Amino acid sequence: MTHRFSKSRTNGNSIKIFCLNIRFPKKALSQTYLMHALHFIHNLSLSYLEKMWTFLRPDATAVLRDKKARTSLSRYFNVMQDDKPAKFTIAKRLSAHHNPQDPPTKLWQLHDQLTQEFCSLEKEIDTRRKTLQDLPTPEQSYLDLKSAIVNRMLGNCHLCTHQCHVNRHTNELGYCRCGTRIIVSTIFQHMGEEPELVPSGTIFTLGCTLQCLHCQNWTISQWYEDGEIYTPTRLAKAVEQLRKRGSRNANLVGGEPTPWLQQWLETFKHINTNIPIVWNSNSYYSRQTAKLLAGFVDLYLLDFKYGNNQCAERISDAPKYWEASTRNHLHAKKYGELIIRVLVLPEHLDCCTKPILNWIAENLGKGTRVNVMFQYHPEWKAKELPELRRRLTKKEREDAIRLAKEAGLTNFIT
Ligand code: SF4
Repeated sequence: MTHRFSKSRTNGNSIKIFCLNIRFPKKALSQTYLMHALHFIHNLSLSYLEKMWTFLRPDATAVLRDKKARTSLSRYFNVMQDDKPAKFTIAKRLSAHHNPQDPPTKLWQLHDQLTQEFCSLEKEIDTRRKTLQDLPTPEQSYLDLKSAIVNRMLGNCHLCTHQCHVNRHTNELGYCRCGTRIIVSTIFQHMGEEPELVPSGTIFTLGCTLQCLHCQNWTISQWYEDGEIYTPTRLAKAVEQLRKRGSRNANLVGGEPTPWLQQWLETFKHINTNIPIVWNSNSYYSRQTAKLLAGFVDLYLLDFKYGNNQCAERISDAPKYWEASTRNHLHAKKYGELIIRVLVLPEHLDCCTKPILNWIAENLGKGTRVNVMFQYHPEWKAKELPELRRRLTKKEREDAIRLAKEAGLTNFIT
């Protein structure tokens, strides 16, 4: 949903906005008066629309009282409601004296040490032993250090498991075809996400580290439709606007946010509002990227796509998917909060859905928030694989719910 009001127009002595036809005394219709009136009505309509989500998604209000959701996403709820600061705001106050030209091993050493310090500082802030305001703004911060490290990684890109090792600074393109300037497809308040996220300030960027044959977002992930280049300062303003208009979070998605990590870190340096960061990812990022996300991301919204590497390679061209995904889910749980999306694919219940759900219950806990998704429909090149040419059957949907219950999961939604 976008908030564009191209349909307002004047007509004689009345102004028509959507179905409202508002009449004014003729002499009052000077241009200035008209401008003020339009502005007033425009703002009125905006705030009306901004509240519309409470009608469209009553579950988004109900979830605020949902004990299971609140338990597994407790810090996220607090940040969303401005009771606690987002992680990036703490990262900005943690001093990290460094020279960006230092050897990468030295930068990493400092980063790993500061990650421990970040965790202690976050605890002190969360338990009200310290406040953000107590902390001076350092010359160089933990967030600056992260950005310096990614900058070095881009010269030999290994942000994701493909490990292309291309020099993106010299415009070499890797598997994802992402360059150095972030390209945005759309920015809007998303009403279709999980109830705890809605309305979600979503930024769709171009490019992806996977090539799923059934991709629902193929126009931006693989086909590369036209987008707009954003500077970090412009993107920061857009994120601040989303928050101002009632977004619960900044939802970084694509395609895939991983190739744009440096641009995202730079963007959040310029953001001066409290907003939880949602990392909406395919979970195929590298070990190094996972380390950089700690102390930056509040809520990991991770796809867990395949229960084995054969299916991952066949459908998404993703070698070593299982190792990458399980490692990144464990890391996400350690350094933030987590919602896992499991898209059920036709005829992949035994090989994928079952092992994924069992692994989650055994390794991340039975109370993990899991969205078992049934919206699969054939898109893009899905017809290349016989089993992906149809939607799920009723039995497959019921079986997936049974599998989640048998795994012992207690906090799953569908
Ligand atoms: S982010 Fe892109 S260029 Fe970098 S390793 Fe992954 S696919 Fe290759």
